[in-house]
Amino acid sequence: MTHITWNEQIPHAGTYDVIVAGGGLAGIAAALAAAREHASVLLLEKQCWLGGLATNGLINFWVPLCNGRGKWIIRGMAEEFLNLSFRYGFDTLPPDWKNGEPAAPTNARLCSWYSSGIFALTLLEALKEAGVRILYDAQVSAPVMDGTHCKGLIVDGKSGRQYYAGGVIVDATGDADILLKAGVPTVDGCNYYTYIGEGITLDGCRRAWEKQDIFQAYYRPAGYEANLYGYNHPEHIALHKGATLENINEYLQKNQLEMLRKIKQEDRRAHNIHMLPSMAQLRTARRIDGDSTLKGRDVYHHCSTSIGVICDFDHQDRLFEVPYGTLVRTGFDNLITCGRSASGEGWGWDVLRVIPPAVLTGQAAGIAAAQALSSHTPLPSLPVEILQSALKKTGVIIHFDDAWLPAHPEEDPLLHK
Ligand SMILES: Cc1cc2nc3c(=O)[nH]c(=O)nc-3n(C[C@H](O)[C@H](O)[C@H](O)COP(=O)(O)OP(=O)(O)OC[C@H]3O[C@@H](n4cnc5c(N)ncnc54)[C@H](O)[C@@H]3O)c2cc1C
Repeated sequence: MTHITWNEQIPHAGTYDVIVAGGGLAGIAAALAAAREHASVLLLEKQCWLGGLATNGLINFWVPLCNGRGKWIIRGMAEEFLNLSFRYGFDTLPPDWKNGEPAAPTNARLCSWYSSGIFALTLLEALKEAGVRILYDAQVSAPVMDGTHCKGLIVDGKSGRQYYAGGVIVDATGDADILLKAGVPTVDGCNYYTYIGEGITLDGCRRAWEKQDIFQAYYRPAGYEANLYGYNHPEHIALHKGATLENINEYLQKNQLEMLRKIKQEDRRAHNIHMLPSMAQLRTARRIDGDSTLKGRDVYHHCSTSIGVICDFDHQDRLFEVPYGTLVRTGFDNLITCGRSASGEGWGWDVLRVIPPAVLTGQAAGIAAAQALSSHTPLPSLPVEILQSALKKTGVIIHFDDAWLPAHPEEDPLLHK
């Protein structure tokens, strides 16, 4: 590829303590947590509503926040967001969890569907109340670096190109886009083909009316339908790797045409697709190569730098402590990430990237950002005890109780992966 050189003067549009790039659930948690620590916060989002994959990406389902025995594991801001997600919209909580943690053990897991649109609106209100400045339709195009220090971000929007200076930059783009451009080491992930929309059917509407439950009206039209283990991935298509303009377009357009092919076979008057995902539904696109990386074999292990305990959404009993080092990289004093782009490997990445842990790592990143600024400490050297103490005050469980472990954890095959 040939290159051109392009020089331009860009207006300096503002200065903030913390700038969060990306308004998915991790970025929202980071912005809210930093604002509650009294930082001035700017949240930049390229779409026109909040929530990322968990709302406009149409992945509106909380995977379990409990251990499969009735113990609520992922708390703090994740608990706050869970409650917010159905304060004004539907939920599908199992009866055992309708009133919070049940008194008696249960195998029913704490998980729920929610309304994407209504959740996004309540998140906006929460951010506004905390004093976060939000700019929609604001595409972050580049970090401005002074060596390995990030001075601020270049943003493209309707007013043209603008510069915002920041004390700490949180990369919550989900794909580590800012970190990559800042020179932070990153690792690409692979994805099977999945594309899911949201619609209604006549039959669903009848069920919803009969049960007086609007959730029953929905159906989820799909393009390709691979699950996270690769089941159903089309044989003739290679795995999607990393995130580039070209390969994301290939992924989206192949999936959209596949969805149309399926739709053509159905009765046109009996269904409607009212929303297509406004972003590629990529599970693991790119992540920081952090100071620590959460791996499957870290299951059941205590970690002194833990920022919180998470559970395995697909397996009862499995617990992990997330090291602070999954969010930062030594040498980059004021850059931090969270959510899908936190440092995980194999199954460790899968348990770390889903919605409840994304909120947890976002919350930790926001508090860490504010603490690093007020103590003039590079983010990777932040004393983790002060971060743990602030997280604990909001209800986050930092270390699991050994009494919650299964009888024979050593027999778990994940320990050897
Ligand atoms: C197919 C699939 C199924 C899944 N199923 C579940 C499930 O059932 N339950 C569950 O809990 N989790 C599930 N997940 C995972 C979960 O949805 C995400 O991992 C989680 O929501 C990630 O949140 P995030 O904030 O890290 O990233 P994202 O939600 O990706 O948010 C990133 C945000 O940054 C914005 N952004 C990106 N680049 C820029 C830029 N340059 N400038 C400005 N803004 C930018 C995006 O628009 C977006 O709003 C699934 C994921 C996929 C792909």
